Amino acid sequence: MKKTLTRLVATFLMVLSLLPVSSIAAGYTQTKYPIVLVHGLFGFDNIGPVEYFYGIPSALRWDGARVYTVQVSAANSTEVRGEQLLTQVKQILAATGATKVNLMGHSHGGPTARYVASVRPDLVASVTSIGGVNKGSAVADVLLGVAPAGSLSNAVIVSITNGLATVINFLSGGSGLSQNALAAAQSLSTAGTSKFNLAHPEGLPTTACGEGAYTARGVAYFSWSGAQPYTNVLDIIDPALSLTSLAFKGAKNDGLVSSCSSHLGRVIRDDYAMNHLDEVNQTVGLVNIFETNPVTLFRQQANRLKNQGL
Ligand code: CA
Repeated sequence: MKKTLTRLVATFLMVLSLLPVSSIAAGYTQTKYPIVLVHGLFGFDNIGPVEYFYGIPSALRWDGARVYTVQVSAANSTEVRGEQLLTQVKQILAATGATKVNLMGHSHGGPTARYVASVRPDLVASVTSIGGVNKGSAVADVLLGVAPAGSLSNAVIVSITNGLATVINFLSGGSGLSQNALAAAQSLSTAGTSKFNLAHPEGLPTTACGEGAYTARGVAYFSWSGAQPYTNVLDIIDPALSLTSLAFKGAKNDGLVSSCSSHLGRVIRDDYAMNHLDEVNQTVGLVNIFETNPVTLFRQQANRLKNQGL
């Protein structure tokens, strides 16, 4: 009996040692083209010592992706940021020998990536917009004082503005970039994005809240976003996002962008239980523990691109 048990255990251990455990996930994120991560409003490749896409580049590289993070102006027009991104895309192509890149942009990084895909579709395999400000943000409209007259009380407007100030101060490391906040708001307002979209319509839904073309001028388009401003009591930024979410007057939003505005190309989902910062696994991994981890979503997207030969 004891001998049989010993043999069983030995056999079990031997089978275990032969299992290709390490190869189960190998290549899962191994896209054909390099992945380029593009930060959003007041984003940096790092927030202080913390990377903007927290823990995401390493998670993508783990199973084979080549990943680059870029640095564009923290707050500037989409076109200026887009030209800066284009320059860096060309550098990445030169360094890797790749012919195209897969762009993944968060927040203002969404339109920034769209700009490059619009002016140089030959250099871009795909654009993935995460919480992208594709049809403007009601928060920017409130900040500029161009929200529909009488639609919000003064007290609510003050709350929204204070919430945004807190978010911006946090993202900029407290360096007080208030002048830039206004410039960014103009770029991200409903009017500002409408103008931009006329020149760069690729992948945009033609209806108010539908999907866009899955492929435009040879570039594949995808998007996802969250729709829950407050998700983690330990995250110091969540109360501020609850304030900014008031600008949307009940419409689904992630605290800074409405679900409908986030739509681009194939909409993977627009209602994850995540807020705008959870989407990039901030603050330092403090996200909704009852929702799929945001890092997993990036990995799944890399796998999706890989399976499409991108
Ligand atoms: Ca969070």
